[in-house]
Amino acid sequence: MANILREGDLELLSGKVAVVGYGSQGHAHALNLHDSGVTVQVGLREGSQSRQAAEEAGLSVGTVAEAVRGAQLVAILLPDQVQPRVYAEEIAPSLEPGAALLFAHGFNVLYGRIEAPAGHDVIMVAPKGPGHIVRRLYTQGLGTPALIAVAQDASGRARDLALAYGVAIGAGRAGMLETTFQEETETDLFGEQAVLCGGVSELIKAGFDTLVDAGYQPEIAYYEVLHELKLIVDLIWEGGLSYMRYSISDTAEYGDYMRGPVVIDKHVRESMKKVLANIQNGQFAKEWIAEMDEGEANLKRVRAEERAGRIERVGEELRALMAKPEAHGER
Ligand code: NAD
Ligand code: MG
Repeated sequence: MANILREGDLELLSGKVAVVGYGSQGHAHALNLHDSGVTVQVGLREGSQSRQAAEEAGLSVGTVAEAVRGAQLVAILLPDQVQPRVYAEEIAPSLEPGAALLFAHGFNVLYGRIEAPAGHDVIMVAPKGPGHIVRRLYTQGLGTPALIAVAQDASGRARDLALAYGVAIGAGRAGMLETTFQEETETDLFGEQAVLCGGVSELIKAGFDTLVDAGYQPEIAYYEVLHELKLIVDLIWEGGLSYMRYSISDTAEYGDYMRGPVVIDKHVRESMKKVLANIQNGQFAKEWIAEMDEGEANLKRVRAEERAGRIERVGEELRALMAKPEAHGER
């Protein structure tokens, strides 16, 4: 079994940490670091709408260049698309000698879109959860697990620095796993494409369409294949597949074993292998980088189509009728 790490030497973070970007991960890292006693300055572009929120939370805020100046570590928590440009124009010119660069995802380093000069540690602390959960669990005394990795070890203590940062954002409370930029990036891309985002979305839509096309009410189909999914996933998250299967009826459990593999058959496993191979050979990265360079026309087109889909309209109506535990922010 892989070694789960929990400890880190916070003394290694005695200087200023620049957190560039105050979005999902940025706000969580900045606030958790601050609450752990680390000196943090948030770097934002001029006129950023996040400035007020960061200041009201008690954080020091500056431009990206101001935050980077004097920082011993720069956490680059911008959208992956804009990182190369902001790095080249606003971070690199102000980077202190020996300052470490930290990423929460390996894409830009693995595919050579950001190349740090020698003399700088290049590390990763990638929480395995959305930023808002990283923050919420920390405030509850808990943590989100994280992957840590070193791409460039200039100081000889790059790994220790990553561990310290992981502990400071609360990941030590849940456990940190050591990986490489390559393993994190390839498994992350595969997970979101084949299972978490792509796979699940298509499974839901296929189930919904099958029921509706067969004449069942769309509202019933929505509850059945989308709404209930969360309740099932919560059980799986809590106690694994066995706990979920213990909680459902024997009829559901029998159907699960006998019909699940009929739907997710050998063909699906073959397709998953193709999707993985496409990531491993760099084709996916090439395609996505070209898309970014050309203004993301395909992303915007499919996003609009998907938002207009039948299941989304039914869901909007039904969710408006259901009481919600809390707001989920802007869409
Ligand atoms: P985000 O889109 O939520 O936030 C990005 C922040 O950058 C925002 O504050 C935005 O205003 C700011 N920004 C955008 N363009 C900018 C520019 N040109 N100059 C300065 N600031 C700019 O991003 P995120 O989802 O937190 O992702 C940050 C990193 O964390 C990425 O590398 C991502 O892969 C990684 N990551 C994200 C999650 C997640 O839950 N969202 C999970 C793990 C890793
Ligand atoms: Mg991921």
